[in-house]
Amino acid sequence: MQLADRVQRIQLSPTAAVMAEAERMAADGVDVINFGVGEPDFPTPEHIKQAAIEALAANRTRYTSTAGIYPLREAVCHWHAREFGTRYQPSECVITVGGKQALFNALSALVNPGDEVLLPAPYWVSYPDMLRHVGAELHVLPTVAEHGFRLQAKQVEAAIGPKTRGLIVNSPNNPTGAVVAERDFGELLVVCRRHGLWLLTDECYSHFLYDGQQPFSVASLPEARDHVIVAGSLSKTFAMTGWRIGFALGPRPVIDAMVRLQSQSTSNATSIAQYAALRALTGPMDSVRAMQTEYDGRRRLILAALAQIPGLSCTPPQGAFYVFPDVRQTPRMISRPTSTAELAVELLREERVAVVAGEAFGAPGHLRISYATSTDRIREGVRRLSRFLAAC
Ligand code: PLP
Repeated sequence: MQLADRVQRIQLSPTAAVMAEAERMAADGVDVINFGVGEPDFPTPEHIKQAAIEALAANRTRYTSTAGIYPLREAVCHWHAREFGTRYQPSECVITVGGKQALFNALSALVNPGDEVLLPAPYWVSYPDMLRHVGAELHVLPTVAEHGFRLQAKQVEAAIGPKTRGLIVNSPNNPTGAVVAERDFGELLVVCRRHGLWLLTDECYSHFLYDGQQPFSVASLPEARDHVIVAGSLSKTFAMTGWRIGFALGPRPVIDAMVRLQSQSTSNATSIAQYAALRALTGPMDSVRAMQTEYDGRRRLILAALAQIPGLSCTPPQGAFYVFPDVRQTPRMISRPTSTAELAVELLREERVAVVAGEAFGAPGHLRISYATSTDRIREGVRRLSRFLAAC
């Protein structure tokens, strides 16, 4: 069977592959420490689940409008205005099947084959494949740990060529936890405006910030509106990964194109999940703050534990729930040089610890460790990792 080029250009998400292998081992009764998962280990808050139960009881089980139920689009705009100071109308909002569909459809609406898109690395695993799917040429902009994985406007400006159409920014970043400072975001926007580029901002982890930082959206800056497309998600913020609710905010023509695309593919996001999302966005944010506090405790714990591992260096994340240590100078890597992709396989086999190798994020030499797991599991996992990396 000859498959289409567009699917041959993409691969199964590497994080999904790790999860599948760790789950298979766990199903066989193996005690796996799963640092691979990119999702909250908290249940969805009760009041949100209750809204879904009520929606079911009220038979809200039919198709909705493709863009999503109007009250939810309104709620997204109000919530985004309250949390970030933006001013969007429901007509500039589409409800999607997770943030992933918002990104996928935004790129499908914006990119022509051969267009170049700027992508800072380390990047979330799905961007390169989404870009390949739409036929974009990737222009990767490396950022480094020594400078806090900071993306600078002058680096972006120097990379712009005649085919460059846009820039993707993810802050807080998966996998590094780096947060783009307001001033840097402003400068990035200036460059995008000067060169007529769109700026796709992925706000998936917007509310998981540490050391007193406040949520920020580049869309709140004056003159952002014509250039910025926001991809948002309820998955992490409200511990709703399985519900599959995300959204996009942006200029009307882009949102309309995304709705058109959605009308010929998935139609609407699940009706019941939309009512649950409505309750999430209009209800209290206490559970979000409680999760943020808990993640912060775990972040401190894992950073302290990793600091004890000889040769390992780790830039403290400022957001999200991952650490991304560099393991190249550990005794194991020095005595038995190998790729981190291979190292991650050995770690799972030898110590039953699942992590995602840096190669998946465009940053070999690193491992991504998710600390969205209990403190006991963090302690045990780092103990195993330490033993593994110390072995010569
Ligand atoms: N963006 C980033 C950076 C992510 O890490 C993820 C999920 O891991 C997503 C977007 C998509 O999340 P969802 O489709 O569950 O909203």
